[in-house]
Amino acid sequence: MTDTTSTTHYDAVVIGAGFAGMYMLKKLRDDLGMKTQVYERGSGVGGTWFWNRYPGARCDSESYIYCFSFDDDLLQEWNWSGKYPEQPEILTYLNHVADRFDLRNEIQFNTSVTAAHFNDDTGLWEVETDQGDRVTAQYVVTAIGCISTGQVPQIPGLDSFEGDWYHTGAWPHDGVEFEGKRVAVIGTGSSGVQSIPVIARESKHLTVFQRTPQYTIPARHETVDQEFLKEVKANYTEIMQKSKVSAAGMPYEFSEKSALEVSDEERTATYEALWQKGGFNFLFGAYADISTDRRANDTAAEFIRGKIREIVKDPETAEKLLPRDHPFASKRALIDTNYFDTYNRDNVDLVDIRHFPIEEITPTGLRTADGEEYEVDTIVFATGYDAMTGTFFNIDIKGREGRELKEKWHGGPTTYLGLATADFPNMFMITGPQSPSVLSNMPVSIEQHVEWIADFVEYLREHAIDVVDADPQAEVEWVQHVSDIADQTMYMLADSWYLGANIPGKPRVFMPYAGGVGPYRERCDEIAAAGYEGFNMSEAKEPVLAD
Ligand code: NAP
Repeated sequence: MTDTTSTTHYDAVVIGAGFAGMYMLKKLRDDLGMKTQVYERGSGVGGTWFWNRYPGARCDSESYIYCFSFDDDLLQEWNWSGKYPEQPEILTYLNHVADRFDLRNEIQFNTSVTAAHFNDDTGLWEVETDQGDRVTAQYVVTAIGCISTGQVPQIPGLDSFEGDWYHTGAWPHDGVEFEGKRVAVIGTGSSGVQSIPVIARESKHLTVFQRTPQYTIPARHETVDQEFLKEVKANYTEIMQKSKVSAAGMPYEFSEKSALEVSDEERTATYEALWQKGGFNFLFGAYADISTDRRANDTAAEFIRGKIREIVKDPETAEKLLPRDHPFASKRALIDTNYFDTYNRDNVDLVDIRHFPIEEITPTGLRTADGEEYEVDTIVFATGYDAMTGTFFNIDIKGREGRELKEKWHGGPTTYLGLATADFPNMFMITGPQSPSVLSNMPVSIEQHVEWIADFVEYLREHAIDVVDADPQAEVEWVQHVSDIADQTMYMLADSWYLGANIPGKPRVFMPYAGGVGPYRERCDEIAAAGYEGFNMSEAKEPVLAD
């Protein structure tokens, strides 16, 4: 593809400048002295937080742990204002990080990588962008996010719609005016559940089109308690350490009790206390077997259904909102601010599209399969993403002997540790498929991957190894392990994006690693200590050095 004699050569090309790409750049450039180029399709840093500017967008991890932990001064100097950080605050934080560590010079914005081909003869990657860049690199690191390729369902007639429509993950930077508008929101996942209460307040009328009712727990969002923050800062090292060895990258207390070993009264009291406390405490703090035992899970599910019946005043609407077809937390667990209360508003209607799907978008609104027409001015697609693999497939990635990644993964992604995939040498994936990633507090998993990759690259350089590739057998064993762990969980019992079920035709394969952040880290460390077991290493035929 690229003429290697006339192109710029880098030690590493990093794709994406969100949390992952920024920290990877810092490690490679500052700790390893590598000539590194980052390409970012946005006009600024931030990744998912650059794009997701929909009303109500905020993180479900508490702010004091949704940040980098690699720099003590950064931890001490940054003051979060929201208990759960809102999108603008996270984006401000990431811009601060970019400035503080002087990262912008090596980031080329408004640039999408279109192709990355491994050249078997030179042992180098040849990378092309939509801005006409053609460069070579010894390493390619993907920092492309797990949920970064939005999906707008193929509903006939969208082109004919005379109003405005938006996807939550590509929100206009100057906002959307809802005042006086009749709005449709399609989708009730994380993005829908966060945006619906805000759009309901701002618009004249809101119709929510719901395919699957959701379990969601009140977040109990508030401004950060300054006393709490002071205490956190005094104990940051321990808090971050606890997060790193925990199941989900959060320093919460995890219950070890079974939901089935306590009386009904005790169980209800526990659920009630955690419902009042809010956030992920309900999921982690209640009972250990909620995510592995259906009967235990049913107790939590029934408690939440009871809450929905209590909160939503119209019994017919409440009935439509009751999740019954999947266990609690088998789809991405949700936390919310006034979600169920929103359905008590006079200007909000709920339409069940499980039984009567949207058949057509007309010039003036939507028509469902029962023949009902809904006139709207604005449609918001909160319909999710082609997660985990979609963004990889948007890039023409070819490994050894021209093998296409898309072809290799046509039956589902196969990786070694979610960090590498056999036949794609010197390519590392930050929070790739089959690593804990989306089942964890992302910055914790990102830091672990970035540091592990940087250590590995340092090792390779010290040992004069130019080309490294995941061993196919090690990969087969890891993929099997990921699948065995998933089979023991409730995740297999829902149609979720974790399983690719939201994308027509996508193979039904559970993509993240459900074995926990702590055990995963331990395994990665053992592999490193054993001389990077499961990787094949060799010298390049024609090594090329960056200037
Ligand atoms: P999502 O969880 O995939 O939810 C998409 C919603 O759209 C679901 O209700 C889905 O219904 C519905 N939908 C999809 N295709 C449809 C179709 N053809 N017709 C009708 N309805 C359709 O997407 P998301 O809410 O954008 O969230 C994606 C992930 O991003 C989250 O799970 C989370 O990991 C992350 N996220 C996090 C936050 C946060 O931290 N607070 C906020 C936003 C996003 P079904 O359920 O029936 O498929």
